[in-house]
Amino acid sequence: VTTFKDQTVALFGLGGSGLATAQALLAGGARVVAYDDAEASRRKAGEAGVPVQDLRSIDWTVVAALVLAPGVPLTHPDPHWSVKLARAAGVEVIGDIELFCRERQAIARRSPFIAITGTNGKSTTTALIAHILRVAGRDVQLGGNIGTAILSLAPPKPGRVHVIECSSYQIDLAPSLDPSVGVMLNVTPDHLDRHGTLENYAAVKERLIVGVEGGGTAVVGVDDDFSAAMADRAEQAGTHVVRISVVRPLPDGIWRDAETLVVSEGGAERFRLPLAGIGSLRGAHNAQNAAAAFATCRALGVAPEVITVAMKRFPGLAHRMEEVGNKGKVLFVNDSKATNADAAERALTSFTDIFWIAGGKPKAGGITPLKPWFDRIAKAYLIGEAAGDFAATLGADVPHEIVGTLDKAVEAAARDAEVSGADEPVVLLSPACASFDQYPNFEVRGDAFRALVRALPGIAAREK
Ligand code: ADP
Repeated sequence: VTTFKDQTVALFGLGGSGLATAQALLAGGARVVAYDDAEASRRKAGEAGVPVQDLRSIDWTVVAALVLAPGVPLTHPDPHWSVKLARAAGVEVIGDIELFCRERQAIARRSPFIAITGTNGKSTTTALIAHILRVAGRDVQLGGNIGTAILSLAPPKPGRVHVIECSSYQIDLAPSLDPSVGVMLNVTPDHLDRHGTLENYAAVKERLIVGVEGGGTAVVGVDDDFSAAMADRAEQAGTHVVRISVVRPLPDGIWRDAETLVVSEGGAERFRLPLAGIGSLRGAHNAQNAAAAFATCRALGVAPEVITVAMKRFPGLAHRMEEVGNKGKVLFVNDSKATNADAAERALTSFTDIFWIAGGKPKAGGITPLKPWFDRIAKAYLIGEAAGDFAATLGADVPHEIVGTLDKAVEAAARDAEVSGADEPVVLLSPACASFDQYPNFEVRGDAFRALVRALPGIAAREK
């Protein structure tokens, strides 16, 4: 990024994307002083040629901006002092998305830039949009809060599309955010730790659609009150808004009619897109993601027929309702990303004959909110620290067994599902728990599940 050429930029946070930010700034001719509270990150950055210095000992009067790496919250005690020092010296505090936006404005103003946010469904929608655009033959760069850091992607150029997932934290640090299509999926009371109140959190997210550039489009899920109000305000401000709903028909917009998306304009139906049978887009929540992707790709001029074909071929994301394979009638699903009851609920509501692998590091509330769906559970296989509590909640009504570890769970669940006689038995890993008692993160847990399933005799694995 060249916007800080010959100027000094302070950078806090030298994890993967922080390092990428430092290197992008250096490559663009900026002077960088970077710091991280972790000694290992400082050493690694030093070895990569990034000048490391304690930000308490620098001359802030010559600093043009403080850049906070993604994942370093404003309220985190460690960068807090660097933010304070910057603010006291009148230095702006920004993030990597802001650097990208300024670069785009400087070098390729009209290159398509799609920014996606929401409490849930960001990664799925971002990946789906990128997938459809690729099928449509576009030059696509995918990243941001998912996968590759935004500054590690190829730079904007005419015709190249950037499809970028944004966390509210990244939006907060991007005052120039001006996507050509801004997608706001939903706002629900989650992740309030960083932004205090729900109102604050919603206001931060709203900036993503308020910022949509002239001639651009805001795609907004209107099934929650916050997002619905945002759609109205954006429209009043003159932005072209496409509304989506999975709970009611819309005269103008995209809505869900059972397993079909309906595209309406001026009260008339224009197009129907069947979602039935697309395993990677099961459930109402995925209909919301699919509708948002449809609206976005339409805004970029992709034909509805091409979108339909591309959606059918969407492989889905790893660890989110990922269909790993079949053994006879039994389907194996990896939903390791479901680290709380709310996420596990979506998995339980998607199937009926469930051989459920759950447990891990417990979260407050346990699985009590899942009781309405217990009748779908043929049997539960409990692992990790939560096993005892979960067994107590399941009680006498739901067959269950404390197996302790994932390997035992897969073995027992596969065996029981096979002889169950159910029409569509599903062995489902949707733990409703964090993984930290047995695994470094949910990805490693999901990878372990996939490997165990693929090692079963007679399995037909699905390749990504
Ligand atoms: P994010 O990137 O916002 O965390 P993901 O696409 O990774 O979202 O999905 C994470 C989990 O959230 C999924 O496993 C699913 O249970 C749930 N989810 C996905 N899309 C939605 C949606 N549109 N609304 C509500 N929940 C969703």
